[in-house]
Amino acid sequence: MADKNTKETMKLLVDLVSIPSPSGNTNEVISYVEKYLAELKVETKRNRKGGLIATIEGQDSSQHRMLTAHVDTLGAMVKEIKSNGRLKIDLIGGFKYNSIEGEYCQIETSSGKKITGTILMHQTSVHVYKDAGKAERNQENMEIRLDEKVHNAEDIRALGIEVGDFVSFDPRVEVTPSGFIKSRHLDDKASVAILLQLIKQIKNENIQLPYTTHFLISNNEEIGYGGNSNITPETVEYLAVDMGAIGDGQTTDEYTVSICVKDASGPYHYGLRKNLVRLAEENNIEYKLDIYPFYGSDASAAIRSGHDIVHGLIGPGIDSSHAFERTHESSIVNTAKLLFHYVQSNLVL
Ligand SMILES: [Zn+2]
Repeated sequence: MADKNTKETMKLLVDLVSIPSPSGNTNEVISYVEKYLAELKVETKRNRKGGLIATIEGQDSSQHRMLTAHVDTLGAMVKEIKSNGRLKIDLIGGFKYNSIEGEYCQIETSSGKKITGTILMHQTSVHVYKDAGKAERNQENMEIRLDEKVHNAEDIRALGIEVGDFVSFDPRVEVTPSGFIKSRHLDDKASVAILLQLIKQIKNENIQLPYTTHFLISNNEEIGYGGNSNITPETVEYLAVDMGAIGDGQTTDEYTVSICVKDASGPYHYGLRKNLVRLAEENNIEYKLDIYPFYGSDASAAIRSGHDIVHGLIGPGIDSSHAFERTHESSIVNTAKLLFHYVQSNLVL
C-alpha cells in the first residue's frame, strides 16, 4: 500500500492535471502551486515568463542547487473560425493529431468564458463519409465541434470565440485500484506533484538542506525554453525532473525512476549521473539508466542558453507520452525517494 507521502502526491497530481495549462496559458496552475507553497510558508517569486521559483535556504548559501519540473502541457489554439460552424486548430507542443481524435476539449475565450467541444475528423460519420477511416489525421481534416448551437462563423464569434483562444484537452484522470494513474498531462505534472510533496516533507520534518536549493516550476518546457532562465550565478547543479520515455529498446518502465544518460541534446553530466546512481543503490531505490531518442529537457535548454552548470535529468516512466499517458505509483515512489536523498547529498563539484 502507498505510504502517506505517496497518497498525498497522487492527490496533488489529480488536482494538477485537472487544471488546464497549455504552454502560454499557465497562470491558473501557477497560482495553485503558489498558494500551496504559501501555505507551507515557502518563499516564492514569479519570473516574467510566468514560472514560479521557490527557494529554501541551506547550510551553505555560497553554492546552490536547482531542481525543475514543468506545469505546462500540450494543447492547441484556435487557428480559424470555419464557415461550417467548426474550429480549425493549431497545435501547441509536439504531438500527433491522431492522439487527440475524439478528445473532449475546452476553449477559453479572451474574456475567460469556457466553452466545451470535441475534437473530431471532419469526415467522422461512417454513414456519410466513405473514407472516414483512411482520411489523414491532420490540421485540414480535424476540427472542433462546439457544444453550442452554431451553424456558421458569425454564430461562433457571437459566443466570443476568436482566433488565438486557447484550447485544452480533457485530462481524463483516473487512479486504478492496481496503483496506475492514467491521464493526459502526467508529463510533467507527475514530477511537479513529486517536487511539491518533497518541499512539504522538507518543511514538515524540518530537514536542513546542505545547500540553498531552488525549485523552479517552469511553464514553457513543451515549447523549449521553460527552465533556461532565473538560474542564480551560485547554482552548481541543475536537475530537471521530467518524464522517462518508454518504448521499444528503452529500459524505462512505469515502476522505477528513470535516470537519463543522454537525449537528443547529448549526454547529461557524467559525474552527476554517477552520483544519482550511487544514491539509488545506497538507498535501495529501483532505477533504470536510459537514452531518450527524441527528447530535450529544461536542463538541456539551460545548458544551451549558456549556463555553466552541471546538468541532469531524472523522472517517472510515462507510457505513451504526449498521448494516452500512464504511470504506476511505484515509479512515483522511486522518483520521490531518489529526490529526497539527492537534495540532501553533496554537490558533485
Ligand atoms: Zn515534459
